[in-house]
Amino acid sequence: MIPYGRQDITQADIDAVVQVLQSDFLTQGPMVPRFEQCVADHVGARHALAVNSATSALHIACLAVGLGQGDWLWTTPVTFVASANCGLYCGAQVDFVDIDPATYNLCPKALTAKLEVAEREGRLPKVVVPVHLCGQPCDMQAIHQLAQRYGFKVIEDASHAIGGKYRDEFIGNCRYSDITVFSFHPVKIVTTAEGGMATTNDDQLASRMALLRSHGITRDPALMTHEADGPWYYQQIELGLNYRMTELQAALGVSQMTRLDSFIERRHALAQRYDEKLAHLPLSTPWQHPDSYSGLHLYVIRLKLGAIGQSHRQVFEALREQGIGVNLHYIPVHTQPYYSRMGFSAGDFPQAEHYYREAISLPMFQTMSLEQQDQVIAALERALQP
Ligand SMILES: *Cc1c(COP(=O)(O)O)cnc(C)c1O
Repeated sequence: MIPYGRQDITQADIDAVVQVLQSDFLTQGPMVPRFEQCVADHVGARHALAVNSATSALHIACLAVGLGQGDWLWTTPVTFVASANCGLYCGAQVDFVDIDPATYNLCPKALTAKLEVAEREGRLPKVVVPVHLCGQPCDMQAIHQLAQRYGFKVIEDASHAIGGKYRDEFIGNCRYSDITVFSFHPVKIVTTAEGGMATTNDDQLASRMALLRSHGITRDPALMTHEADGPWYYQQIELGLNYRMTELQAALGVSQMTRLDSFIERRHALAQRYDEKLAHLPLSTPWQHPDSYSGLHLYVIRLKLGAIGQSHRQVFEALREQGIGVNLHYIPVHTQPYYSRMGFSAGDFPQAEHYYREAISLPMFQTMSLEQQDQVIAALERALQP
């Protein structure tokens, strides 16, 4: 089976991890700060905080901006459930904004319309989480302007997007947001097995997230309520969690980051080849906004069902039967049973639901060979034959 995504591990990656295993620190040593500096420098952010997953990063990001009971978090329905769940972890309520049919990202026009209604009803969101689906950045300038007008915080879920750019600047520099979150799950662009990172330019948000990822405990005298009792002393000043990244993960991350540019170049070469070789088929290849340089975590096609004799499901199954590990990103979150129980139903976000009925994620990963890509294309041609 050719998977839809797969990690790229070299001998240098393995050596970096083994070196940590033979060192004094398996956790809370020098590698985590080194990985943080590496990501901060690459994306151009003042601070980067490594944690054990993007889900954890989203959680502490929401806590750091003060999301809590009585507040609302809005995100897109076309995302992984974690982009919405982080609001619920904080006791807030979650709502969704429909997608732009061209980019599949949270639609700024739909957001504007929803904000106007919410302002009249006195239920404006405290946090909006735009998700850079497939690695293509959202219209961050428009979202930022709305954030200033309506006073909400912006947490970018850039789990798909490390190495990508918006208006010629790296995603993660937080020019148009408060915090950006990356994921290092093995299917993503850069991996640490499990892992995540939050970047920000705000000193206070960085300091709060640093506390929250490690029990709310500090050894910094400047943050303590009184002078230290002695050299052993630490204080718990918040209710935090244990969301720390290990040294093994950070070493893998540092090693992977040295190849990030080539990862993205390879993904772009594969995407361009798909674009050309699929052009004759009854499907839409991903449209790229001119402001964006996608990280290309995913390559999503949409079937033109009116021009195909088969259903979406039949095409999907025909691909799987031919050994192509296609996937579907994502089942609209509001249709998940857990969210339906909150009162959401089919029909609430028509563009997202329309997308779901046509989308298929084709294999896309940096170690994919051209032969494997040709296999995918041939299998798709066969699957679409009447
Ligand atoms: C993968 C993913 C996450 C969660 O990442 P983890 O590191 O697995 O917690 C969150 N949001 C999106 C959009 C993702 O793709």
